[in-house]
Amino acid sequence: MQEITSHFPHGEGRRCVITRRACFSSSHLYWLPELSQDDNSALFGPCSLPPGHGHNYELIVAMEGPLNEFGMVLNLSDVKHAIKKEVTSQLDFRFLNEAWPEFDLSKPEGCLPTTESLVRIIWEHLKSHLPLLSLRLYENPKLWADYQGNAMDAYLTVQTHFSAAHRLAREDLPQEENEKIFGKCARPNGHGHNYFVEITVKGKIHPRTGMICDLSALNSLINDLIIEPFDHTFLNKDIAYFSDCVPTAENIALHISDKLTKPISAIGGSLYKVKLQESPNNAAEVYTNASESKVDFEESRNEISLLR
Ligand SMILES: [Zn+2]
Ligand SMILES: [Zn+2]
Repeated sequence: MQEITSHFPHGEGRRCVITRRACFSSSHLYWLPELSQDDNSALFGPCSLPPGHGHNYELIVAMEGPLNEFGMVLNLSDVKHAIKKEVTSQLDFRFLNEAWPEFDLSKPEGCLPTTESLVRIIWEHLKSHLPLLSLRLYENPKLWADYQGNAMDAYLTVQTHFSAAHRLAREDLPQEENEKIFGKCARPNGHGHNYFVEITVKGKIHPRTGMICDLSALNSLINDLIIEPFDHTFLNKDIAYFSDCVPTAENIALHISDKLTKPISAIGGSLYKVKLQESPNNAAEVYTNASESKVDFEESRNEISLLR
């Protein structure tokens, strides 16, 4: 054993996370047989229209382990074949409601194939074949679910955007001092950004609807409370909160988090994280529960662009 480890000292006692991406295209239909046509359409909107509709899904599989004697956690060819055999070959170009028995809604235990329930079931299909750490499933580039194998707990993220101007300066400081602190961002007439916002909601997947919260209600909240009031404004002047709070990316993210926390609780979810991408070069993330931020900042250190 000692002889072998001496050939790969980088891996000795250290674990590594690797990811593999896989894509598939599938259709689905949100329609529960125990509900009337009207109730189905009230609950699921256009997703309840027969015969269904489709998405180009993207799955990111994160796995963790020590390195082997070849400097790898796993042979990527084995990973690729496991994902293909257990998941994509069974789902690609299929109707999800009929592809796996977990989505058979004629049975009481059947669950709608939402993004969050699909990622959970994919975990069940993969877990005995790969050392899973987490799964992310994109239904489209602006909607994805994360799952880490914790029973019915999942995360759903919606990405949206708004455009706004701001000026970074404290009114109680002279211009010269503001320019020292905030640089060009303190220039008197402001400047603008196309802000990208990611709202991550945590919750339990409902065993029947497959949802952690009502997605259309969530989209309405984000639109009504954030996008409509913020879009095409001068934040310092048009948003009362920023009349005496410098609208840095951090403060905007915190304010969005404060505005959304209670309304999201009221629709059955729990706001987990707000990420505000201000430019390609800087973003800010805030976690609703401060104790969770430390863990996540550590875990995601390598992949996020947190600080300017
Ligand atoms: Zn859909
Ligand atoms: Zn700026």
